[in-house]
Amino acid sequence: MRMPPFNLHNPSTLEDALAMASELESSGEEFDWISGGTDLIPNYKWHLNTKKNVISLSGIEELHQLGENRIGAMVTLQELVESDSIHPLISEAASKVASIMIRRSATLGGNICLDTRCFWYNQTEQWRESIDWCHKCDCGTGADCRVIPNQNELCVATYQADMAPVLMCLGATIHLSSPRGSRSMPIDEFFKLDGMTRNVLENGEIVTHVTLPDDLSEWDGDYQKLRQRESWDFPEAGVAVTWKMGADGPDGLRVATTGLESIPSLHTEETTQVLENWNGEESILLLSESIRKSVKPVLNTWFPPSYRRKMVKVLTRRACKGMLEGQS
Ligand SMILES: Cc1cc2nc3c(=O)[nH]c(=O)nc-3n(C[C@H](O)[C@H](O)[C@H](O)COP(=O)(O)OP(=O)(O)OC[C@H]3O[C@@H](n4cnc5c(N)ncnc54)[C@H](O)[C@@H]3O)c2cc1C
Ligand code: SF4
Repeated sequence: MRMPPFNLHNPSTLEDALAMASELESSGEEFDWISGGTDLIPNYKWHLNTKKNVISLSGIEELHQLGENRIGAMVTLQELVESDSIHPLISEAASKVASIMIRRSATLGGNICLDTRCFWYNQTEQWRESIDWCHKCDCGTGADCRVIPNQNELCVATYQADMAPVLMCLGATIHLSSPRGSRSMPIDEFFKLDGMTRNVLENGEIVTHVTLPDDLSEWDGDYQKLRQRESWDFPEAGVAVTWKMGADGPDGLRVATTGLESIPSLHTEETTQVLENWNGEESILLLSESIRKSVKPVLNTWFPPSYRRKMVKVLTRRACKGMLEGQS
């Protein structure tokens, strides 16, 4: 698989990076940001929506900063695994991404912005040509989607990154910068239910860092992941649960899922309902079933949707287990 040629730009400050993006944009040239390149480069080798210009974020010092309540977009997942200063749930989720070799290059920003995946799309160019392409990378043919057929407007490729659900459950805020200024939002508002646009990033805008709230250390939690091979596979389903324990049960409870739709989801309605009448193990069973009902996977990853849904119930129950420990 031959890498298509592209111009690599290497800014050393955020201002330079945004100025380069602005310049390319005004001259009508397309570009991609690259962080660790562990997803973008394989996609380029498969000629998936390649661009003539790639802007590397690796030389921008401020994006590498790591602290208890602030993680720069260029912090690698292996740094998160090894860090003593961040919340243990973040380290745990990072340790479940890919393999150690990949995690040494893979970054948090790249993970959050990971392209959505689909077995009709993440294939070589020759393979995709043999099926006459698909809507997400149609090579100018106007091809239909292979999952929701007879239309070429909607893409339901699956979001299969591990870090977002854990950050959602810990109440993270995501920070973005563009030549037009900076903005921030709760991370669950960052994603867009569309397998192609994926998130709210506008042209020339990047993720700079995420911040975590002051009450972070009061939250406990777990992340459970279903994958084909434990050694490095993407989540076929992932469930993060966090809780803040009070005298009679959880005072706070959050559940978020990944690997099931085009976006990761924070299940606020389901957790609010179950907290109203908390009854230990029984409530956990009710919660697991309501999370299962709320997810709607489609047939475009390894395991069938019905199995992934069933496993969501199992994973939720497993992730809640720690909540009952220490409760009499
Ligand atoms: C064999 C293999 C197994 C894998 N397994 C997993 C897994 O189990 N779980 C998982 O979550 N991922 C997995 N991955 C995917 C990938 O390695 C990780 O998600 C990684 O964290 C992506 O980060 P990166 O820095 O390499 O991103 P890149 O490849 O550099 O970028 C990914 C995307 O994000 C955009 N981007 C990057 N940084 C920014 C930014 N700061 N602002 C705006 N846009 C940005 C890029 O333009 C690109 O579209 C796997 C990859 C491989 C090859
Ligand atoms: S969901 Fe449809 S359009 Fe999207 S990548 Fe898959 S086949 Fe292509």
